[in-house]
Amino acid sequence: MNNLEEIKNSSLQEIEREVFREINEIKDPGSLEHLSTKYLGRKGILTAFLRNITQLPVEERPAAGKSANLLKVKLENTLKDLKARLESETGENNDAIDVTLPGRIFPRGTLHPITRISREISAIFSRIGFDIVEGPEVETDYYNFEALNIPKYHPARDMQDTFYVSENIVLRTHTSPTQPRVMEKVKPPVRIIAPGKVYRCDSDVTHTPMFHQVEGLMVDRNVSFGDLKGTLSTFVHQLFDEDISLRFRPSFFPFTEPSAEVDIRCVMCRGAGCRVCSGTGWLEVLGAGMVHPAVFENVGYDTEEYTGFAFGMGIERLAMLKYGIDDLRKFFENDMRFLRQF
Ligand SMILES: [Zn+2]
Repeated sequence: MNNLEEIKNSSLQEIEREVFREINEIKDPGSLEHLSTKYLGRKGILTAFLRNITQLPVEERPAAGKSANLLKVKLENTLKDLKARLESETGENNDAIDVTLPGRIFPRGTLHPITRISREISAIFSRIGFDIVEGPEVETDYYNFEALNIPKYHPARDMQDTFYVSENIVLRTHTSPTQPRVMEKVKPPVRIIAPGKVYRCDSDVTHTPMFHQVEGLMVDRNVSFGDLKGTLSTFVHQLFDEDISLRFRPSFFPFTEPSAEVDIRCVMCRGAGCRVCSGTGWLEVLGAGMVHPAVFENVGYDTEEYTGFAFGMGIERLAMLKYGIDDLRKFFENDMRFLRQF
């Protein structure tokens, strides 16, 4: 009995000695895998030892089983640590980056249609010699109204639903305040456009409290209404196409005299009449006129020496026509499906 026990115990000790000798020689994950199978696999040496315990006398089984299981746990832990060490040394980790996998594709942003058309408008006017300037969105009552010949209690103030920050500070209702701001700083010739955000206390299907305008101003000696027409025609032809004709209708703005509303031939139906142009064949796209002498006086320009023209237009309106967008609100909803089209 003692003899058999000795043999079995020494056999387990031999297994242990042998396996740890082999472990010391392991240099790569492949031979580690091999050793793991050799001892712990279904037909492995230690597995076979555990299975053969049933052939031992009943009273010896618990002690032999316990020793064998302890060795098994010790071996498993040792192999696990060794595997982790080998993998970190050789970089062969199944969880690591597989450089052969296709890369993850990140969604790429696109320019908002308002940004796109603003840049296009700026590019067109740059090509014909206009500088691009910016003005503050929080504006004084003076620049937004007074300097543009719209004194307090002037009925024209009712045309614009103004957001007041305080009695004399407003969110600019148009980009026109950039006109006196620029003219106060520089002497003619002046050729600028000023794109940017404007604010009106107004919100429905065709109005949003914030929208974009672009202002234009040219001042020099002998600037005429013909120059205004030529400039706007060039712009419309470059933004849409050469065949689009323009129509000037008399209008009123406090800061221009004479003033005009400018229509273009409907870009959708080419004048035949459609839903976009309400069957008229024309689209109203901008307001313009010759700078009012009172505005020049406010900035110290000599009204005998200089004349100029100014114009303003809604950028959303132009984007809707250019890209065939039928609902103003789409610009502000940030719906990716809509924005990705551009
Ligand atoms: Zn039409």
